[in-house]
Amino acid sequence: MKVIVVGSSHGGYETVRGILAAQPDTEIQWYEKGDFLSFLSCGMQLYLEGAVKDVNSVSYATPAGMQAQGVHVFVNSEISKVDPASHSVHVIDHATGDERDETYDKLVLSVGAVPFDLPVPGHDLANIYAMRGRDWAIKLKAKTVDPSVKNVVVIGSGYIGIEAAEVFAKAGMHVTVIDLLPRLLSLYLDQEFTDILTKTMADHGIYAAVGQGIKAYEGVDGHVTKVVTDQGEYPADLVVTAAGIRPATGFLKGVVDLDDHGLIKINDHLQTSDTDIYAVGDATLVPFAPTGKDNRIALATNARRQGRIAAKNLLGENVPMPAVSGSSALSVFDYHFASTGVKEGTADKLGVKTASVLVTDTIRPKFVSEDAGNTKVWFKLTFDPTDGRVLGAQIMSKYDVTANINAISVAIQAKLTVADLAYTDFFFQPGFDRPWNIINVAAQKAAATLN
Ligand code: FAD
Repeated sequence: MKVIVVGSSHGGYETVRGILAAQPDTEIQWYEKGDFLSFLSCGMQLYLEGAVKDVNSVSYATPAGMQAQGVHVFVNSEISKVDPASHSVHVIDHATGDERDETYDKLVLSVGAVPFDLPVPGHDLANIYAMRGRDWAIKLKAKTVDPSVKNVVVIGSGYIGIEAAEVFAKAGMHVTVIDLLPRLLSLYLDQEFTDILTKTMADHGIYAAVGQGIKAYEGVDGHVTKVVTDQGEYPADLVVTAAGIRPATGFLKGVVDLDDHGLIKINDHLQTSDTDIYAVGDATLVPFAPTGKDNRIALATNARRQGRIAAKNLLGENVPMPAVSGSSALSVFDYHFASTGVKEGTADKLGVKTASVLVTDTIRPKFVSEDAGNTKVWFKLTFDPTDGRVLGAQIMSKYDVTANINAISVAIQAKLTVADLAYTDFFFQPGFDRPWNIINVAAQKAAATLN
């Protein structure tokens, strides 16, 4: 069997790995239109802050390493057309200018997405950068040490925008984060959490300009100097856009079914409208466990799961994609937070009725002093007010307790209720935890509201 995999980031890499693990003698051709194989944007912040020194190490695969495993790797090679009738793709080699057609038995598309370029006046000025991919990582790195950059404006306050803001604040620059939504990180955390984080960010030189729409970028001599919103003007020597992404699916129009946003429609076996063409990653939707409906959750974890499952299915197994909860975590200066599932702030948009309980506590028993690492934790559990089904949770502390959210993700996927979690067995040792884990405490509080 000959399989062509398009795209070399998380979804493409995992598909190739999955095929190699199950049937190493499969003929695999792996295409990447960029000049570098398998750059992982998840590592960008670590590289920009200097924790990772070599930009080329932010990858899991090298062409030589993959070729040694029998994979035919093609970088600088764009798939510009797909012809399902003849089971062929058209390849443009951007290094040589050569073009050719290749046939496949199965095709896997992990073409991902590109940063959304806000279509406002001035969007083509110089020094407007994006936070995605190796090329932007290298350019952004240069700006972290550029003495002419004093004011940085970040557009978008999702986790990618906040990562960018933190990078430049730590580099000593004045940072403004602009978002149309009324709170920073509002799709990840409810207000009890974002109030604290917004203050922490302000203490570190990051200012929130929220509830504002971008009207224009203005500049001098072709370089951006300010961002104009419907409520103010913000000086900018550098703008970093992180205001969403668009699927890189233009070349697939009329080839496979796309939705109104250009996302590739897939079934629960990751097959597109053409059963020999699979699609995974940020250009697709994933089944969202709390609602049972498909949702857009652009995370490497989802791309990886899908890649592995696509590999199994195209090789003849019958594995449906499990529903996911959309779990993610981030550090913002001293704080570490994680969240999963539905938040109060996202419930309306998802069409879900929710109730929530908030528990604030110390991570260890009161007799353990702050000097010994005892510190405050915030935990919010969100559930269905009619039957107590667990729908989501958020946690934050200066100590890293984010892994608790993985337990809630399991609870959501297993359709557990707050009554189930109220007495679930979690360990206790005063050096780590309290006699009642904070999940138990919140679930007991939530269960009491249902009586
Ligand atoms: P992409 O990563 O978008 O990659 C698609 C690849 O396909 C690209 O290399 C592209 O050049 C190539 N390609 C596209 N079209 C073609 C074509 N026609 N021919 C050939 N090649 C093509 N997720 C997490 O779970 N945890 C994190 O901590 C995290 N941090 C992130 C931090 C940042 C700054 C960013 C930007 C994202 C982060 N993500 C994180 C999200 C994660 O990176 C994405 O969900 C993931 O990369 C999606 O993988 P993908 O394979 O769908 O596509």
